[in-house]
Amino acid sequence: MTYFFETYGCQMNTAESAALDLVLRERGWQAARDGETADLVLINTCSVRETAEKRVMGRLAQYAALKKKRPFTLVVAGCMAQRLGEGLKDKAGAVDYVMGTSSRSVFPLILEAVEQGGGEVPLSGERPVFAFSSSHLEEGQFRSFVPIMHGCDNFCSYCIVPYVRGREISRDPASVKEEIRLLAGRGVREITLLGQNVNTYRWEGAGGVLDFPGLLELVAREIAGTPIRWVRFLSANPKDFSPRTIAVMAENPVFCRHLHLCVQHGSNRILAAMNRRYTRESYLDLVAEIRRAMPDLSFSTDILVGFPGETGADLDETLSLMEEVRFLYAYMYHYNPREGTAAYSLPERVPETVKRERLARVIALQKKHTRELLESRIGMRETVLIEGISRKNADELITRTEKDEMVVAPGSPSMIGSFAGLTLSSLRGNTFRTKELRLCPGG
Ligand code: SF4
Repeated sequence: MTYFFETYGCQMNTAESAALDLVLRERGWQAARDGETADLVLINTCSVRETAEKRVMGRLAQYAALKKKRPFTLVVAGCMAQRLGEGLKDKAGAVDYVMGTSSRSVFPLILEAVEQGGGEVPLSGERPVFAFSSSHLEEGQFRSFVPIMHGCDNFCSYCIVPYVRGREISRDPASVKEEIRLLAGRGVREITLLGQNVNTYRWEGAGGVLDFPGLLELVAREIAGTPIRWVRFLSANPKDFSPRTIAVMAENPVFCRHLHLCVQHGSNRILAAMNRRYTRESYLDLVAEIRRAMPDLSFSTDILVGFPGETGADLDETLSLMEEVRFLYAYMYHYNPREGTAAYSLPERVPETVKRERLARVIALQKKHTRELLESRIGMRETVLIEGISRKNADELITRTEKDEMVVAPGSPSMIGSFAGLTLSSLRGNTFRTKELRLCPGG
């Protein structure tokens, strides 16, 4: 039997789709080319923005039309499934199974029912609980996510995540270790520890309490002597970033010298309205502290403009914060009211045209910073992970630095999956080029 996935939203969803993919493959299912021909179509949804949900509703309508022509099973998973539950079947008639983020354990039961020709899946009377599952790795992939947390306790006033993903749950370190061993055995070179707010990781076991820096130390010990050489983590909330985390990172070069540290805004007034629970000053102090410990570390961030009540002066605060930090890159977006969040009822909504103008200013400044920072790196020596062959030229390889910069290099396919040293020789767009690549000792 065949299956096809459509995955929307964040890296958590990507990781979860990968885990579901593994379940299907283990049962002998095969990936279909597209949803038109698959026996089972699974849409892993995102609820963060209304536009994301509207897009899924549009896709469900298309699949409903397809269902009139041929039978297949349609499963909706992820945040939208969690938020709307079985009610989704009333909104979109073609949906066969709704599987929220905390009821993924029913997936094998759904597959069993489909394999036997369809039918109801008995959900247990108990409240479903979230269970972490193993990552799946595509052939030829050298980077993998390792989910360490699920859910979020922060309730930023614009965000739906805590309502759909629920409270924070940390993963048993024994299971994290097991997964790392599994990935190392498959030749993975780089892992990203994943959670909505990794800094509040906490596990209470027989050996006492393990916090996030403790987990980082454990991961560093675990990967010693394995093919895994680079470790990242995502997302890090500035309000919970501890000095010990900085110290652990600084002490161990396996932690990539790049950090995605969401700021969202530069104005204290707006940060308070967003319920971010840090200030512009504390954010800048944290950046300075991290830079003191790791001067070569680069930052990226998320910036949200047009939050209700934002004035031109507030936007200037964001622009000046960007000038102070000089992010290597940023995900920039404008505010859209999300029903069910605290900010939904806030007055003083910023008009669409103003939001767009402000976003354009933020994007223009970020582009300038990205360009300047990349240009300043020409001539530098770097270590890269060789990821694959360039789609444009089969004699060239695509590689990435630990700052996540792309470098195109000459080389042969046999080098894929190895670490190599190179000089950043030139820049085309935001992609570096190099003339020569030398494999690192031990690859
Ligand atoms: S930290 Fe804030 S923005 Fe991030 S998931 Fe939690 S509530 Fe949403």
